[in-house]
Amino acid sequence: MPSRTALVEGLMDRFPHLPREAVIKEDLLRGGMAFDASALSGNDGGEVKPKSYFIFSFDHGTLPELGEAALRRPPEEVVLTGGPYGLRRTVVSVRVNPASPYRVSAGPDGLLGLYLDGARIADVGLPPMPDYYRHALANGKSVMEVAPTIQWGYLIYLTVFRVCQYFGAKQECRYCDINHNWHQHKAAGRPYTGVKPVEEVLEALEIIDRHDTAGASTAYTLTGGAITGRVGGRDEAGFYGRYAQAIEERFPGRWIGKVVAQALPKADVRRFHDYGIRIYHPNYEVWDERLFQLYCPGKERHVGRDEWHRRILDSADVFGPRNVIPNFVAGVEMAAPAGFTTVDEAIASTVEGLRFFMSHGIVPRFTTWCPEPTTPLGRANPQGAPLEYHVRLLEAYGATMREFGLSSPPGYGPAGPGRAVFSVSSFMDSLPETPEEAK
Ligand code: SF4
Repeated sequence: MPSRTALVEGLMDRFPHLPREAVIKEDLLRGGMAFDASALSGNDGGEVKPKSYFIFSFDHGTLPELGEAALRRPPEEVVLTGGPYGLRRTVVSVRVNPASPYRVSAGPDGLLGLYLDGARIADVGLPPMPDYYRHALANGKSVMEVAPTIQWGYLIYLTVFRVCQYFGAKQECRYCDINHNWHQHKAAGRPYTGVKPVEEVLEALEIIDRHDTAGASTAYTLTGGAITGRVGGRDEAGFYGRYAQAIEERFPGRWIGKVVAQALPKADVRRFHDYGIRIYHPNYEVWDERLFQLYCPGKERHVGRDEWHRRILDSADVFGPRNVIPNFVAGVEMAAPAGFTTVDEAIASTVEGLRFFMSHGIVPRFTTWCPEPTTPLGRANPQGAPLEYHVRLLEAYGATMREFGLSSPPGYGPAGPGRAVFSVSSFMDSLPETPEEAK
């Protein structure tokens, strides 16, 4: 079998018009990276910003399988520069895989590097511990637990409901470990609040607002599991909307407000908008009809794929098409045993979905699938999707966007290689440069 280096360099040669940074970033996101002890964070008392486990585990092993990385958390993200490929600044979300051919470790000079198949391919920078992480809430909870930031501090990630009411084999999405992740943190004795009280979220935001001396935090995302019944007496729009309302009353316009929720009926979507939310993410997960039915059985049963798509289009009437940004999980199209077996078919299907939404002015975005081992699809596909799929998706995504005269979606910071901060896929790294949007 050719080495991973040969695979990566082969794709860089085949797709010279795509940034090399994106090829490496996609490979790190789909397959993870290993860490030497010297590259771990040392938890909340250290100088490095630790991985917060902001919603899913995004790891290739359970906590007990991660060894030292489970005891002294890895960093939230790494930033890559330089090396033989001359990488421009590239922010990559950390997905730990002790068996990865990519390893972060200190070289003989003591400086951290990223090694692939034993050769140093980039310098590695770690995110500094933000000042606001050093201040606890009055009840002792950490800001990292209540309101972690990702994307190099750009996005405050508010998973206010840490579990999903689609539960068990008949309902849970088959690539999703939200429920397992909650269990594993509880089992490890870590603080991991199931439902975050609104007052705690406001208090954590207050600390961020006061101590974000670099002024990096620009947007917040309200999210969590699907609510098919009620939580605290509220339906999904009422539950997530209550946080939006409280945040916007307390900090009007301070951050770009975003909600990731199910594709809800228009009246519910309007409630989000009325509360001050500016961007709505009704994620469609995977385009292909058969795969959606297989992979998202709860959503299929409760809403149904066609209705889901109709609601996405309807929500553009409320938010405007540019502010409706549904996500899909890039790579699950190729998961065995039910997925496409060729990259050509998988790309063709994915592009069909992109064209459907982009023809209505809606720009989807994607996260790179991390095959977490406690999910059915991750267990069956520990290697994830082929790197070629991810690289060709970047190419197809940019081309479809150009075809419809669209540009990078708002709320993701600057686009372009060397500038992007979006860390869980490289779509922003591979699009043309745009200035950072105004808040
Ligand atoms: S709806 Fe699916 S993807 Fe979303 S949290 Fe629930 S199980 Fe996970």
